[in-house]
Parts: sequence; structure tokens; C-alpha cells
Amino acid sequence: MACQEPTTITTIPEKIIPPKPKRIILMIGDGMGLSQITATTVVAEQPLALEQFKHIGLVKTHSTKLITDSAASATAMATGKKTYNGAIAMGVDQDTLQTIVEYAETLTWKTGIVTTATVTHATPASFYGHQPSRSRVNRKIAAQFMTKDIEVLMGGGWTYFKDGLDGRDLIDEARQKGYFVTNTIEVGEYVPQKMICLVSSELPPRIKERGDFLPKATKKTIDILSQNNASFFMVVEGGQIDWGGHQNKGDYITEETIDFDKAVAHALAFAQKDKNTLVLVTADHETGGCSVAKGSLKKKEVTCAFTTDYHTGTMVPIFAYGPGATEFVGIMDNTDIFHKMKSLMN
Ligand SMILES: [Zn+2]
Repeated sequence: MACQEPTTITTIPEKIIPPKPKRIILMIGDGMGLSQITATTVVAEQPLALEQFKHIGLVKTHSTKLITDSAASATAMATGKKTYNGAIAMGVDQDTLQTIVEYAETLTWKTGIVTTATVTHATPASFYGHQPSRSRVNRKIAAQFMTKDIEVLMGGGWTYFKDGLDGRDLIDEARQKGYFVTNTIEVGEYVPQKMICLVSSELPPRIKERGDFLPKATKKTIDILSQNNASFFMVVEGGQIDWGGHQNKGDYITEETIDFDKAVAHALAFAQKDKNTLVLVTADHETGGCSVAKGSLKKKEVTCAFTTDYHTGTMVPIFAYGPGATEFVGIMDNTDIFHKMKSLMN
């Protein structure tokens, strides 16, 4: 009997379409590489919220140069385009690039931005501002914020919204636009429709003075944006992990990473209940060439060693939870984060 030809498969399986989230929370630990996370797992009193994620990938962080700055890497995640260091949501030809926040607005998604730096700092600014250079543009970025329809803005930088050389008082203007404007996150249960919370005149202080602003601001922003089951996109930056890296201070890095992780815990708790929220946690780059050099598990102590006081080109992790999380497994470019989020939002 002649051998039978193997049956030809004529139907090509459809590409599996990932489930789409109604909400996306993008969390950026500035300068938070693997060693920063590892060191924090050693000193933390309890397991990190980060340790609950099951979908994990690695991100290449370079800009048009191997070593990126925060403006270019935030621009890559916010716009899907590689650019030069210092550019805020502008391309290599200083062309204005649409950000994921601006795109979310076109879909009538609500939007919010939270940071432990100033709200006009490179990372948050790259999600709503457009400047050819990051230096000395705080007021300009604050003024650009006023042209947007972003529901929540929280971080430092009151002074950049108060009276400027242009004669405008942006705090006053924001109130007229319907924002609840405060300089403290201690507002109790009150959940306004739109809120600007600027907790310091310029850069927010370290955690000892700052307290748990970041976890509280993250939770409040979720409360505001999720009203009436709305779709939303929000960015949360743990901005000072990077500053600990620049200063080569392991304790600064781990206290900031623990604080950031508490914000992650709020996002994750919301997403677990909601089931329609994608939570992404990543870094814009690694800072300090940090390594876990010495320490004791028993004493919960760690000594970090550093190779530089600037950023490095080492890949950083990305953690994903919720609908679409499987898209973020494997090695990707920072620009892919934008493209994946955008296609999931469609
Ligand atoms: Zn930095």
C-alpha cells in the first residue's frame, strides 16, 4: 500500500489577537536597572510588588547615542521615535512628535501624570511637552501643559506655574479651567474631576521629608481617572532612583525603589480588581553602572558598587500585568513600548 501524503494544512492560524485593555498605567523607575531592583529586594521588609509580575521582558534603552538621557528615552517610550539626548518629544530634525498622552486624548481617554521629580522634568515632560532642549524650559513646559486636556498632574514645580516673566499665573488659569489645585496630597477622600498637586516649589525633597507622596498620588490619580468606568492612560515616574544612582548612593536608590514599588502595588491592586487595566513597569535607562557587590541576606544589608556617575547602556527590565501583558515578553526596543501600547489602545 502506497504511503499516504501527509495532509496539507490549508488554513493558516490567525494571529492571536491579544485582549485589549481599557486602561494603561505606565510606571517608569528612572534609572532603575536590575541591580537597583535586586538590592531593593534584599533590604525590603517584605517581597516587592514587582515580584508578582509573570510577564517580563528586557528593553534596549539607547537614543541616537548608545547612552541615553532621560529626555530621549522618555521620548522613545512616549512617541515611538529615537531622538537625540535632551530632546523632549521632538525628533532628530526637531520635528514635533505626537505623544501617547496626546494620542490617548484623541481617543477621549482620560490622562494623568505623576512624578517625584518636577512635573516639568525631562521624563514627565516628554509625555506632553515639546522642546528642542530640556534645559531651562520649565516655564515653557508648564505653559504647554495648559494647552492640553490632561486631567491629573502631580509632582514638584509650583514655582513654574506661579507668576512667570510672561505675566501669566498658571495656577490661577488652571483653577479657572476647573482644576482642583493644591500643594499637598493630603486631601482625604476627596476625588475631584481634575487635579493639579504641586508638592514643592522646585524639586521635591528626599523621602524623609517627602513622605509617601508617590504611592498616595498614584492611588489618587487612579481614583480620579477611573470615575464612571472611564478609559485612561497614566504615567507614574519614580524620578529619584536615578538621583541616587548619579550620587552613587545605594541607600538613596533602595529607599526610592521601595517607595516606587508601593506605587506599583496600588496600580497592581487596582488592575487585579478591574481586570481591564494593563500595568507596565520599566525604566528609562540604568544609572550608575550599579552592581550588588556585598551584603547580608540575614541583616538585610547591601553594598552597591558603581562604575559611573552617569547612565549606562545596559538593558532594563519591563514587567507587565493585565490584558496585553504577553506583548511585553522578550527583548524589545524602548520605542516598541509606544507601538505596543498604541496598538493595544486602538
Ligand atoms: Zn539621570
